[in-house]
Amino acid sequence: MTSGQSIELSVLGGGGEVGASCFQLAIGGQHVLLDSGTHPKKDGRNALPEFDMIRRAPDALLVTHAHQDHCGSIPYLMRQYPGVKAHATVPTMRIVDRMLHNSVSVMGLLARERGIQDYPLYEHEDVEYAMQRFVGHEFDTPFKLPMRAPVEATFRRAGHVLGSASILLKAPGHTIYYTGDVCETRQELIDGFSPLPEDVHVDTLIIEATHGANDAGGAVSYQDEIYRMGTQMAEVLEAGGTVLIPSFALGRTQEVLNFVSRLQEEGLVPTVPVYASGLGRAVYELYDRFTDYMLPEAILRPLDSFGRIGNVWKSGVVKKLISKPSIIVATSGMMLENTPSALIAEEMVQSNKHGIFFVGYLDHETLGFKLTQAEVGDALSFGIDRPAVPITMENIQRFSFSAHAPRSALQGIIEHIKPKNVVFVHGDPEAIDWMNANTGNGYTTFAPEIGQTITLEP
Ligand SMILES: [Zn+2]
Ligand SMILES: [Zn+2]
Repeated sequence: MTSGQSIELSVLGGGGEVGASCFQLAIGGQHVLLDSGTHPKKDGRNALPEFDMIRRAPDALLVTHAHQDHCGSIPYLMRQYPGVKAHATVPTMRIVDRMLHNSVSVMGLLARERGIQDYPLYEHEDVEYAMQRFVGHEFDTPFKLPMRAPVEATFRRAGHVLGSASILLKAPGHTIYYTGDVCETRQELIDGFSPLPEDVHVDTLIIEATHGANDAGGAVSYQDEIYRMGTQMAEVLEAGGTVLIPSFALGRTQEVLNFVSRLQEEGLVPTVPVYASGLGRAVYELYDRFTDYMLPEAILRPLDSFGRIGNVWKSGVVKKLISKPSIIVATSGMMLENTPSALIAEEMVQSNKHGIFFVGYLDHETLGFKLTQAEVGDALSFGIDRPAVPITMENIQRFSFSAHAPRSALQGIIEHIKPKNVVFVHGDPEAIDWMNANTGNGYTTFAPEIGQTITLEP
């Protein structure tokens, strides 16, 4: 048995927030980066992790999954450190490619429309370069990182979205487990996370805490929630209304489209047209390419069974879209201003026959959250420089389909792994505080903030 070795963990982003996840591990003078995201609610350089904390080129970058808050800054990082190799699962690598090219387009648009000077933070060529530096791996297949001291990494199924992984890192004298975004529930298409075998000894667990502040999803089963939503959808559609389901492009969109289709096949939901927005469709194509990574019994419906939403920024398009009963699955999931879900909602909230059903995590500062708190008669603006519109709609609901583990499951992961150190990341301060206060005495717990470096003893 090797004697223990302390390591240093620097938080470049994702400490005390769901933001630009990026963690640097210093192991015996060598540096591994875990994730390299951008902050979903910040603009320009402010959305980047604190890359100034990096003193020299990282020896490797490991990427858990293709959500923007975990991969959005990779091309920027790679331009600064062109020699770095990135590692991810094969599906994650392909989805990252798609998401980053989309980010270039979105940043270009924001630069033109809102004059954000720093945008785009990188160009399509930078994405192409970054993707050449990627190495794809299979789950549960250990690989060596090219470092002086042998460090072995393994991607474990995290159950969050297609290809998403937790990372097991075995360094001499210190074993680290980083959950990334993790989900214990079996979803419509994706199986739950695979727990570590009992005999794997972990010194340091770095664990997400998204749902630490509430018991969301703790009690309801995924399938029960699907049927509860189906009943609510049927009511709106039968009364001649349209249902909008704001969804993340990666994960939630593919899940919702498939269980909505299933409910239609089962006769619970009227067979009205189902629409899906652009990036969600592009990611859907990748789900279709990597069906081996989904539940064996999952049935992925053909993408062309879902209609296109069209250009919602063009006047008249949304009005026409919602003129007949339909189900619309549109980004963004948190209904950020000026996105398809926001512009469709802007029109819908002015009538009381429609319904808006939120199905994922809602940050408290987002338009989506504000809409769930709004009362009839309140007015909200759905885009920068757009006049506030009065809310007439009453049927605004939340369903518990989060692809993040509820806090009881997070506690279960800690108790199963029994590490010495537990580091809480990827959660609002209240979420992290709750987890920190409710984790047993047998652990050394940490809640590092951005910019902080902590030493972890084995
Ligand atoms: Zn995620
Ligand atoms: Zn995340």
